[in-house]
Amino acid sequence: MTDYIPPLKDMLFNIRAVSGLERILEFENFADFDADVIDQVVEEAGKFAADVLSPINIPGDRTPCKVVGKEVVTVPEFAAAYAQFSENGWLSLDVSPEYDGMGMPGITGIAASETWQAACLSFMLCPMLTSGAIAAIEAHGTPEMKKTYLPKMASGAWAGTMNLTEPQAGSDLSVVATRAVPDGDHYRITGTKIYITWGDQTFTENVVHLVLARLPDAPQGVRGISLFLVPKYLLNDDGSCGELNDVYATSVEHKLGIHGSPTCVMSFGENAGSVGYLVGEENKGLAGMFTMMNHARIGVGVQGLGISERAYQLARSYALDRKQGRAPGVKGTATIIHHPDVRRMLLVMKSQIEAMRAAAYYTVGMQDIAHHSNNESERAAASARLALLTPVIKAWPTEVAQELTSIGVQIHGGMGFVEETGAAQHMRDARILTIYEGTTGIQALDFVGRKIMSDEGRAMKALIEEMKSLDAELRGDERLAEIGSALSEGVQQLESASAWLLEQGPLDPNAAGSASVNMLMLAGVVVGGWQMARAALAITNGAASDDPSFASGKLLTVQFYALHIMPKARAYHDAAIAGAGSVMDLKEDQF
Ligand SMILES: Cc1cc2nc3c(=O)[nH]c(=O)nc-3n(C[C@H](O)[C@H](O)[C@H](O)COP(=O)(O)OP(=O)(O)OC[C@H]3O[C@@H](n4cnc5c(N)ncnc54)[C@H](O)[C@@H]3O)c2cc1C
Repeated sequence: MTDYIPPLKDMLFNIRAVSGLERILEFENFADFDADVIDQVVEEAGKFAADVLSPINIPGDRTPCKVVGKEVVTVPEFAAAYAQFSENGWLSLDVSPEYDGMGMPGITGIAASETWQAACLSFMLCPMLTSGAIAAIEAHGTPEMKKTYLPKMASGAWAGTMNLTEPQAGSDLSVVATRAVPDGDHYRITGTKIYITWGDQTFTENVVHLVLARLPDAPQGVRGISLFLVPKYLLNDDGSCGELNDVYATSVEHKLGIHGSPTCVMSFGENAGSVGYLVGEENKGLAGMFTMMNHARIGVGVQGLGISERAYQLARSYALDRKQGRAPGVKGTATIIHHPDVRRMLLVMKSQIEAMRAAAYYTVGMQDIAHHSNNESERAAASARLALLTPVIKAWPTEVAQELTSIGVQIHGGMGFVEETGAAQHMRDARILTIYEGTTGIQALDFVGRKIMSDEGRAMKALIEEMKSLDAELRGDERLAEIGSALSEGVQQLESASAWLLEQGPLDPNAAGSASVNMLMLAGVVVGGWQMARAALAITNGAASDDPSFASGKLLTVQFYALHIMPKARAYHDAAIAGAGSVMDLKEDQF
């Protein structure tokens, strides 16, 4: 079995060609960094992924987590890898220096994270959630809270978790029932949370739970939810860990994939009520949690990218090795990579992976601009673009990951279905990605509702105009003509579906919901195609001229995307505008 090798050439190419790095490095906050330093950090992160995390992927899958006493115990290899992860300071890459972080651009963290997620997704959920909790505390915590918790979390000494879900409150957080009662300078939290990722483990000194709960007199619905910080261990006056708080994991779930990551049922306040501290304002907790959720949404999209890359590498190496049948021009039995259909499957993987990478890096570049530019209108435009694309970058790569990890199995034939190759694990691990952090359906509702209709289509229009502006450049080079016409057709479809949504959405309460997932997937395919076209343009303008094989491979891959993947835009468009009747007319008893 081939281990994971970070696809550094394509990663570094995308960091420079599509993420907007040149502009990002002009910001004052990043004055200490240049593109070479970022390359070096990403290369080191990739080495860590290959040498330390990739080998623990299978042990994590085969050794389920368990509750021992009142603690969760995971596979020993994870504890050892975590010790190295925090010793190397990896968690602090893009954390502000004010809290002992390295303060690098977010694009560094996301590229590093791609390699770590690919190498061992179930392990990386722990640091990923810690990063999200850091972002939420940094944005909404009190100065004292930030000073106390953030340096410990950035160093990896303490982990962070996200506690939203309850049995009756999954996609719909308005019915969260966990209670918080004021008690002096803190609150007492009581309730049960389910499905809490890395809700407990024994390898960090403390676990910092961010918990949604409701005050006794809170209004009903999402306007009555507050956010609390509930540490596993209460802190002594000097900031060290003291007594155990009244919170623990009562059980862990048995599940389809990500076996190495404990998915916990958490009990808060079985005795006196667990001690919690308010983050942000009372009844405005969802805004704080959204900072963490948006962070995690992009992180989960990158999980889809990473696991697809790993599945691709395994399938590619099998296809280069496995002999079966005859192929034109090959003497004797051919390796299966010579069969057109196997090549097609590999290219469906490779081209969509590269499109997802480009689109994700571009979106994180927007995040860097939105947070760090000192030009107000640039910041506003980047924020709008980031908000529009966040649900797309969560849902589209994770949906595509289902297709690609399944193709990874298919390329292996029967060997894919047996566990030894590892292809099946990729498919099992990937299955959660479209569910947690908001299902695809919920992302799509956010996309069509808040991001397009409530905005009256402004952010979408700006995106469409910018994509159109590439047309002339693409048509100016005959090597890019096919790519240009595929993109312009895809952009037209996105424009037409958006216009339909803005017109029909207000007229029929089911129109937007019926169109939503097709609209989101249409946007994913087209934005991916746009970024691939930008990559192709960068190649024809001389990027990667020192590596002709990479450069010509990139052009052929973009061309495949234009000819085989962009046509999906038409199908998504037609289904999106089919109208609510096509999904609503069948009565419940006719299903
Ligand atoms: C392994 C794992 C790890 C998790 N980690 C965490 C964690 O760390 N913290 C945490 O708080 N939670 C976590 N979750 C919970 C996860 O976020 C929820 O499972 C998810 O949000 C969906 O909620 P649900 O399971 O209740 O499904 P439901 O909300 O019941 O949804 C069922 C189906 O109905 C659809 N649906 C629901 N409402 C609508 C609607 N309004 N419009 C259209 N479609 C709709 C959904 O898309 C889905 O297809 C985890 C879950 C799992 C399985």
